[in-house]
Amino acid sequence: MNERDSEQVAQTFSERGYTLTTDEKDADAILINTCSVRDQAEQKALGKMGIMGKYREQREHVVFGFMGCMAQSRGEELFKRVPHLDLVVGTQKYHRVFDYVDSILSRRLETRMDEVGAEMVTGRVEDEIVKVNLDRVISARVVDTDDEEGSQNTIKDHIPKEVQQAKAFVSIMQGCNMRCSFCIVPDTRGKERGRPIADIVEEVKSLVAKGVKEVTLLGQIVNLYGRTEFPIVDGKSPFVQLLEAVHEVEGLERIRFTSPHPIGYRDDLVAAFTYLPKLCSHIHFPMQSGSDRILKLMKRPYKNEKFMTICEKMKAARPDLAITTDVIVGFPGETEEDFQETMECMKKVGFDNSFIFRYSKRKDTPAAEMEGQLDEATKERRNQEMLKMQNEMTSAKNEKFIGTIQRVLCEGPSKSNKEKLCGRTSQNKIVIFEGDAERMSGEMLDIKIEDSTGYTLYGTPEIH
Ligand code: SF4
Repeated sequence: MNERDSEQVAQTFSERGYTLTTDEKDADAILINTCSVRDQAEQKALGKMGIMGKYREQREHVVFGFMGCMAQSRGEELFKRVPHLDLVVGTQKYHRVFDYVDSILSRRLETRMDEVGAEMVTGRVEDEIVKVNLDRVISARVVDTDDEEGSQNTIKDHIPKEVQQAKAFVSIMQGCNMRCSFCIVPDTRGKERGRPIADIVEEVKSLVAKGVKEVTLLGQIVNLYGRTEFPIVDGKSPFVQLLEAVHEVEGLERIRFTSPHPIGYRDDLVAAFTYLPKLCSHIHFPMQSGSDRILKLMKRPYKNEKFMTICEKMKAARPDLAITTDVIVGFPGETEEDFQETMECMKKVGFDNSFIFRYSKRKDTPAAEMEGQLDEATKERRNQEMLKMQNEMTSAKNEKFIGTIQRVLCEGPSKSNKEKLCGRTSQNKIVIFEGDAERMSGEMLDIKIEDSTGYTLYGTPEIH
């Protein structure tokens, strides 16, 4: 989701004449879109921004800004942590980043040209007060973390890609109304707000017109999309109505979504997998824990049985379905028994992959204050045990693909080996193969799978 928000901000700069650079040394503005899911991510962003302050020694005008979740939750406090920071923009204000940066930058460059830096006194960026120091570098301290109605409708533009783009993310909603005790998202992203179906369909059509064949619909809890804004029609939730509408887009081959939640995962969504063939045979379905006691402590309002039942129904609806998940190990109060319950559930579902997170305290969340915090050694041991089991399950599952022919959407050169191409199956398995990047990127190909190394499949394109 952060990636998608960053793309939106980058696009606003690009369409107004700025050039994107991959080299931070060349940049006139450096923006970090921050994540608050784990403390480590915040520390990394702060550290990175601190180091980049050196660029101002050679290029006095450079604008530095934080966007996203950490910006939202910490606000002004960030100026104390990073003295050279100019801008703090929250999660409902991505569409205003360009104006803030452009305004600060223009004034700095004008000042440099006039050589009157020491005399520039005050200014305003839009409605935000800008404090300006009587220094050679005009120091702008802009904070904008307010709520803004309709902000979910502003994440809709895409950066044109150099190679034929095979797939794209489409943000369908913002915010979350849940209150999981380990999560900061409800504070940083606000309440659930969905975009209108017609707008989303238009965005998908424009992507398909550029050659995109697969879209992933994004939301904190996608299956709850639109529940407070749009009505149920013919027993179908707004999310299923949206899937049907996107499915109609001619030229679109594949639809994915992430992430669903057991609450509101109803039979209409299960059934959609039986009559919407463009829906990929994969769901990423966060389980977090297999223990009801821990789910309760996590303030996830359902029992594990509900999660397991949905998985069973989904497998019945789509027999080749791959299910991946997120799991937290070492949550406060997790006993060995709770941990083993989670391991059992993982085996029972037979996840194709799991993103296993070792619990770490997240500031300003209830779980950080809970009793029964586990020591690092216990968390690490459980993490390794779970990882080992998942690796074995993934290898066994992927080996079964050897000898089969898989329909693969070619995404272009592989990131780890530019000589080879990479793509994904409907089950979201990564496949590496040889071929002509220019001709094959963005195309659906039949690939004969010949090998597997745990998480990756290797094959050869079938010649028709
Ligand atoms: S469902 Fe829970 S974990 Fe997911 S975004 Fe909402 S509060 Fe966070």
